[in-house]
Order: sequence, then structure tokens, then C-alpha cells
Amino acid sequence: MKNSRIYLSLAHIGGREQEFIQQAFDTNWVVPMGPNVSGFEQDLVQFLGNDAQVSALSSGTAALHLGLILLDVKPDDEVLCQSFTFAASANPIVYLGAKPVFVDSERDTWNLSPEHLERAIQDRIAKGKTPKAIIVVHAYGMPAKMDEIRTIANRHKIPLLEDAASALGSTYKGIHCGTLGELAALSFNGNKIITTSGGGALVATHQRIACKIVGQCPQRNDGNLIKKARFLATQARDAAPHYQHSQIGYNYRMSNIVAGIGRGQMLVLPERIAQRRANNQFYRKHLAGIEGITFQTEPNSDFYSNYWLTSILIDPEKTNGITRETLRLALEAANIESRPLWKPMHLQPIFADCPFYGDGTGEDLFNKGLCLPSGSILTEQDLQRVVKVIKQILV
Ligand SMILES: *Cc1c(COP(=O)(O)O)cnc(C)c1O
Repeated sequence: MKNSRIYLSLAHIGGREQEFIQQAFDTNWVVPMGPNVSGFEQDLVQFLGNDAQVSALSSGTAALHLGLILLDVKPDDEVLCQSFTFAASANPIVYLGAKPVFVDSERDTWNLSPEHLERAIQDRIAKGKTPKAIIVVHAYGMPAKMDEIRTIANRHKIPLLEDAASALGSTYKGIHCGTLGELAALSFNGNKIITTSGGGALVATHQRIACKIVGQCPQRNDGNLIKKARFLATQARDAAPHYQHSQIGYNYRMSNIVAGIGRGQMLVLPERIAQRRANNQFYRKHLAGIEGITFQTEPNSDFYSNYWLTSILIDPEKTNGITRETLRLALEAANIESRPLWKPMHLQPIFADCPFYGDGTGEDLFNKGLCLPSGSILTEQDLQRVVKVIKQILV
């Protein structure tokens, strides 16, 4: 009998989701607002702390799009964006007619390199334009080097938009990812650490950090950013009895039904983080000492990753020429799904003309890297199957 398929990252239902959905049906709240939406937003606020304000939306991509609008990104503006990421980080820049400028990663966290960021900003300014925003990603749950990045952003008075789509539950110096930028996007897509089947949220942290950016953060410390996000996400309707619009709006609000799934998922979020981290520990323990494998690793105790996806690099110079692709195909032959690390945006055909500042780190990560099955739903038996194939190939 063929082994059942092991997936990279599947949804993992907690058990109480249907109670919240049932409440929505029982009360006719089958609309893009209502008690589950507000309840889910409250749950997130409570979890994130740090004065976070949250607007639940239809996707993480929608959150990034609205985030850029709230940071006043306009056609022909430039936006700096981590190149080593998923396309959804960069696409909303183009939705607005603005121009992505890609910045490479550093080796420790695989996220935005402070060194290349500084160089990129100085060069863009020298070429005549101060970038309007910086999109920083916490790749696979690993927090970026936020102190260094924040210092640079503040020095140049450029606001930070965090793509924390995969980093719910990760922290930097004890502060939640998603509350480290002026604005942040979360995702509850089906493959994320918790899911609403599809959904996202925009987070505004209207406290000390945001307020330092004088003149850049359009509104401060009064909840107006999130109020504005809700307004834009519901078709930008002015206060009038008829439909009246003085701005372009969007239909981005989360439905009260899927928000019910989110409320159920929030009850198990701490468990899900623990499970993903335990998977990561399992792989580290059982793959320890194998020549040529290295893990994406927290550089020190300031960094706490939810380890959404356990990710490794295979160095063919140390594995007698075995590449990540050899390994991926061997896993596939054993009915196990794995995936190469993101192909950096500056190497994507659609972004070929965009400026890039870097040294090839993201490209090297792509060439050598593989995401291993990491779902919280995996059993120890599943993990053992994955480890066995890796050892067959590399030991
Ligand atoms: C999933 C993801 C997104 C997109 O979120 P959606 O909810 O699917 O729109 C954006 N950026 C990163 C890094 C992601 O992992």
C-alpha cells in the first residue's frame, strides 16, 4: 500500500469553529460584518497587545494593499521591498502604480538586510526620490532584524509596513511581529499557522514607534488608521443616506462566517505555535550532524520564530553534489510534499526591470533551500517518514 500523502502545511481545525459559525447562522449575521468579525478582531488585539488595532479583511494581500494606501503610496512613488518573499508582498505596490525597489536579505534571518537597505535608500535619494515605504517580511515566521531596520527607517523618516503574513505568534525582543511596523499585514490563508479558510488583517500599532515618524505616518495614536482601513475596505461610503463616494473604495472586509472560523482558531493558536516549534525541534534533533544541511535559525534569544515552515539549506559542496532538488524529488517519490524556498522577486520575470540592491544572498537561499512538511497536524510517524527519506539521500 502506498503511504498516504504528507503535505507541506495544511489547515488544522481546533474543534469550536462551528459553534461560532452556528451563532452567525442562528442570528442571521451572514454578512461581511457582525459579532464574529468584531470578536475575531478583539481576540487578535488581545493576543498582539502593544496597543494594536486590527481590521479583519478578506486576505493578507488586501491588508498589504490597504496598508500602502494608508501610507499614502501614489503612482510613480517608490516602495522598498524585501526581495526574498512571496509575490503578494510586492504585487500591491504595482496595484497602486508605484514602483517596487527590491532589497536583498542577510544570512542570519534570511530577511531584509539592514546594510543593503541603507545603501538602497541612499542611492534612491541620490537619484532624486525618497522611497515612500519599506516592506519588511518575517520569512517563514522568522523575525527580521527589527532594531537595525527601525533605526534606518526612522533616520530617513520612512514608515515600515510589516508583512507578518506567516509570523503570527513570532516575537522580536518579546514584542509581537505585526506590531513592529507602523502597519502590518496578517494572513489567515489555508496554509498559515491559523486559518479562516482565506482571510487577513491589517494591524496598526499607534504607539511610541509609529509616532516617531514625524510627518510620515499620516495619522497617529488615535485609531484613525484602522478607522480609515475599515472605510476603504467597505467601498468608501461617505456619511449620507444615499450612496455617496468621494474616494475610491474596495470590497475587502472579512465575512462574519469565516471570522467564526478565526475565533475558533484563536482558541488553539498557542497550541499551534507549540506544535510547529516542536516539529522544528524534531527535525533539528534527527538531522543533527548531517554534513551539508543547515536550518533557518533564531540568531539569538531576541528572536522567537513560530517556525511556520521549517526550512533548510542543502550545500551540494558538502553533500557530494546532492542538491535540494534531488532531495525534493526523493521526498516526492515517497509521497511527501516539500517546496523550494521563495524565488526572489528581482529574479521573477514580471519584476525583471525593477531596481535591486543586494549581493546574491536571496538567490543562494533559493538555489539551496527547501521547506519541509511543517503542519501542526503532522504526527510523529509523518515526521519520521520525512527524516528517513532525507537520511537515505544524504547519509
Ligand atoms: C501568505 C502570504 C501572503 C499573502 O496572504 P494571503 O492571505 O494569501 O493574501 C503574503 N506574504 C507572505 C509572506 C505570505 O506568506
